[in-house]
Amino acid sequence: MNEALLSWLMVPNSAELRSVTEVLARPRWMTAAACRGAGVAEFVMDAKRTPSEAVQAMCGRCPVREECIAYALERDVLVGIWGGTTELERRAMRRTVA
Ligand code: SF4
Repeated sequence: MNEALLSWLMVPNSAELRSVTEVLARPRWMTAAACRGAGVAEFVMDAKRTPSEAVQAMCGRCPVREECIAYALERDVLVGIWGGTTELERRAMRRTVA
């Protein structure tokens, strides 16, 4: 899944996709994601909820977890679980770094 499509799926009230090119231009690391093809239902959730054990386990063994977290930390508009972190956890991580 690429950034434009993810943004469309995971950012409330996001705009229409801008182009097919954006859909096809996803970061290469996403092709190795453990969650690839798993659907987004378990990953898009209320910011205060803890991810399920299944999601935590999947992210814990994901070969691109570091890339995933870094990607989400750079994009504060993204919601849901990224790299096993919740939206609230990422906000706290950004404050720690700032
Ligand atoms: S770390 Fe988790 S959310 Fe990120 S790509 Fe891997 S399985 Fe998916």
